[in-house]
Amino acid sequence: MQHVASLHSENVTDSKTLLLLGSGAREHALAEKLTRDGATVHVLPGNAGIPNSHPEVNPLDFEAVRAFAQAHDSKLIVVGPEAPLAAGITDFFAGSNIQVFGPTRSAARLESSKVWSKEFMRRHGVATAQAWPFRSDNIAAARAKAAELGGHVVVKYDGLAAGKGVYVCSSPEEAEAAFDDLQTSYSGWFSFLLEEKLTGPEISIIGLTDGHVIRLLATSQDHKQLLAGDQGPNTGGMGAYCPVPFADANVLAAIRRDIVDPTLRGLQNEQFEFRGFLYFGIMLTPTGPKLLEYNVRLGDPEAEVLLPALDSSLLTLIEATLNGTLSKQGVVQRPGAFVGVVLASGGYPAPKFPTGFPITGLDNLPTGVRAFHGATRRNEAGELVTNGGRVLVLSAYGHDLEEATARAYEACARVTFEGAYFRPDIAQRPEPVLTAAVVN
Ligand code: AMP
Repeated sequence: MQHVASLHSENVTDSKTLLLLGSGAREHALAEKLTRDGATVHVLPGNAGIPNSHPEVNPLDFEAVRAFAQAHDSKLIVVGPEAPLAAGITDFFAGSNIQVFGPTRSAARLESSKVWSKEFMRRHGVATAQAWPFRSDNIAAARAKAAELGGHVVVKYDGLAAGKGVYVCSSPEEAEAAFDDLQTSYSGWFSFLLEEKLTGPEISIIGLTDGHVIRLLATSQDHKQLLAGDQGPNTGGMGAYCPVPFADANVLAAIRRDIVDPTLRGLQNEQFEFRGFLYFGIMLTPTGPKLLEYNVRLGDPEAEVLLPALDSSLLTLIEATLNGTLSKQGVVQRPGAFVGVVLASGGYPAPKFPTGFPITGLDNLPTGVRAFHGATRRNEAGELVTNGGRVLVLSAYGHDLEEATARAYEACARVTFEGAYFRPDIAQRPEPVLTAAVVN
């Protein structure tokens, strides 16, 4: 593969005006950080809480994005969510004088297809759970496999599902319920994976990569289930914190050796163009770290703690990734800890729940807390109201996790709306005892 740097390097952010695609709290955190780094950031479409939002532009309408970029003399597009990447926005702008920070459509399959991604892991010796692909016209075979494994399986829809197409099961009955739910949620023909169920603490490892070099941000942890104690259905994420105390140098070395490095070798061997964020969702099992999934973008809500924690210029890191000089950049983190708690609408993650409720208390945040807007809008009266499931992320800094957690929950007591729900136990998991096998 020709090194990507030589293709475009002269174009990178001569002007520091950039476009950021997306509309969630992750994009609010990205916009805030990039603005702090000195960029002028236009967010397409953005939301009611993000300055410089442009709700009239659909980020999946690439012609409209191009027209906007040209009108604002912007040469750089940073992509927040996975959908524009899976739809090929990087390929659309290839060869133009506008660069996209994010992988090509074919490399984005690392996230957009669970089946393809699992095959990639296997081809390149990335440590991961055993898995078996099935099609929706052969549920009987999947049922038999699930029974053989005593129902201790994870059922994964083979496509983008905003973190919700995954069912973690502990009995054949639960697996059956997952198959039923898949069939009612996704019409027509589809594929899915059946995976052996692993156990252990989870960790999110996120870096910027050009496919050759990777620069990792702080370690972080998401809380995907809706209810305290990791109970209830999976959601897009109910809170996150960084850094993770038990991710010491030994754990990180094992993750690099068994997961990150084989992935980079795979990207190079298969000649994928990958310049963007790469996210490894990892479980630390009794037999070592195993990769659960890749994401080809920043995690949400991990971004809402990782970006406030990042001391280095993200703009510089992005530019270096695009022009092939990432190896010359270091990543400096702010000392201390960061905890983000999601304030969600009552009823989320069900398909339907009421929204439009006024939000109060944002003018009274405790010291060290910032509010990143997810699903918010202004109503006809100009009031800030709820507009979806994950409404706000209250992200707190503290000298240590305890202080950051206390501040985040103090903010949750002050900011509210009708039906507001948050998990009461973000960043309060018991410290896992890692066995030697995890790190050897
Ligand atoms: P994924 O989207 O593949 O990361 O799955 C979402 C969540 O489901 C993960 O964060 C885990 O909590 C859980 N999960 C996924 N795969 C497995 C597995 N093989 N064993 C146990 N839990 C899993």
